[in-house]
Amino acid sequence: MTRTTPPTRATRTTRPAGTPRPYRSYVYAYPHKTAYRPLSERAPLAALWADEPKDALSLYAHIPFCEVRCGFCNLFTRIGAPGELTTRYLDALDRQAAAVREALGDAAPVRFATAAFGGGTPTYLTAAELERLCDIAERRMGADLRAVPLSVETSPATATADRLAVLAERGATRLSIGVQSFVEAEARAAVRPQRRADVEAALGRIRDTGVPVLNIDLIYGIDGQTEESWRRSLDAALHWEPEELYLYPLYVRPLTGLGRQAPGQDADREWDEQRLRLYRYGRDHLLARGYTQVSMRMFRRTDAPALGPDDHACQTDGMIGLGCGARSYTSRLHYSFDYAVGMREIRSIIDAYTGTADFSRAEVGRWTDADEARRRHLLQSLLQAQGMETADYAARFGTSPFADFPAELARFEALGWLDGDAPGGLLRLSPEGLAHSDGLGPELFSPAVRAAMAAYEAK
Ligand code: SF4
Repeated sequence: MTRTTPPTRATRTTRPAGTPRPYRSYVYAYPHKTAYRPLSERAPLAALWADEPKDALSLYAHIPFCEVRCGFCNLFTRIGAPGELTTRYLDALDRQAAAVREALGDAAPVRFATAAFGGGTPTYLTAAELERLCDIAERRMGADLRAVPLSVETSPATATADRLAVLAERGATRLSIGVQSFVEAEARAAVRPQRRADVEAALGRIRDTGVPVLNIDLIYGIDGQTEESWRRSLDAALHWEPEELYLYPLYVRPLTGLGRQAPGQDADREWDEQRLRLYRYGRDHLLARGYTQVSMRMFRRTDAPALGPDDHACQTDGMIGLGCGARSYTSRLHYSFDYAVGMREIRSIIDAYTGTADFSRAEVGRWTDADEARRRHLLQSLLQAQGMETADYAARFGTSPFADFPAELARFEALGWLDGDAPGGLLRLSPEGLAHSDGLGPELFSPAVRAAMAAYEAK
C-alpha cells in the first residue's frame, strides 16, 4: 500500500494543540512485549508461581504459523511451516506444558477458568494436530476444555470442516475469524488477498458447527476505503449475525509488509482523520443494529451469550502462556520468550524454542511493581466502555486513581475524554475518549516502560 494521494474524501480537521495522536499504540497488554528484556537471573517457574492464586488461571496456547503474512501484521508468526516443524513445535509445547504444570505444583488447587488458542493461525494445524493441542491442554495442563470458555482463532483458508469439527467437539465456545475486509480490492491493498466467496464459505462452515460465539475481525483505514465500502464490509459481516465484531484501525508497523512498502506513512495525519471517520461510522452503524460497544474495538450483539472475558487478549493476572509467542503473567513478573517481527528472526526463535529441553525457568520478561500494577489496573478498566468503579480501585490499592494519576486524568478531562455524566464513583470515557483509546492508553505508561519500549530495536 503506497499512499501518494490523500485518502478518498478526506477532510482536513485541525486537532487542538497538545492533543495526542489518536493512533499511537493498541494497549492490549501492559507492559508491551517490547518492554521485556532477557532476565539476568532466569527465574525458576516453581518459585514464581509458589504464592500465586491458581484456582482461576487463564490458559493461552500460541501457534505461530500462518499461510500468508498479511501486510499489516506485526504478530509473532511465520509462514509456510512444513509438517515436520509443526510436529516439532507441538513436541516442544508438550514439554513446556509438562514443565509448567510441574512448577504449578499440587499444594494448592490448580484450575483453569478460560482457555484460548491464538496465533498466528491455530487452524494452520491439521485436524489431528488440533486434537493433539487439545490433549496437551487437557492432559498435561489439566484444563477442562469442555467446561470452560474456549476461544480459537481461525482464517478463511484454514477453517476447514474437519478442523472445525475437532474444535467444536473438544469444547470451543468461540471461533474468531480474521476477515479484515469483504471487499476484494481492499483485502489486496492490505496484502491479504482472498476471494469473497471463500470467506463466505468459511463463515458458513463456522456457523454449521453450532459453536455459540462467532467473532469477525474487520479493519478500517485501508487505502481507498470509504464510508460506502466500509459499510459494505460491515453489512456483509452483519449478514452472519456474529455475536461479536472487532473493528481494528489499520496500523503500519516497522518490518511488516506494508511498513516496508511505505515507511513513514504512520505519521500521516490525514490517515488519522480517515480512520477516526471510519471508526465513528462503523461504531454508529453497529450501535444502530443491536450491538453494544464493549471497548474501542469490540462490539457484542446485545442478545448474545457472554461466555468469556471481554477482551480476547485479556491480561488479568494469572495467565499461563504456552508456545514461543505467548506471555505468562504472575503478579510480579510478566514473561515470554524472545520477540521479533522480521521473518528471519522469527524462524530462528521458533527453531530455538523447538530445540529447548528445559522449560523450567522464565527467560525474557519484565518485573512489575505496585506502580505498574496501578497503571495496568487503570488501563484495563478505563479502556472498557463500561468504565472503572473507583471503589474497586480503592479496595485493591487503598488509594484513589485521582490521587495516583492527577495530571493524566486532568488532561483527559480537559480533552473531553472523560464522561462528565457518569454516575458518581464511576470513571468512564466519553465517546470521544473511547475513540481515542489508542492515543490515551500510552499516556498512562510509566516512564520506565516508555524508555524500554523506545530503546527496543525492532528485529
Ligand atoms: S494478521 Fe493473523 S492471519 Fe494475518 S499474518 Fe498476522 S497472525 Fe497471520
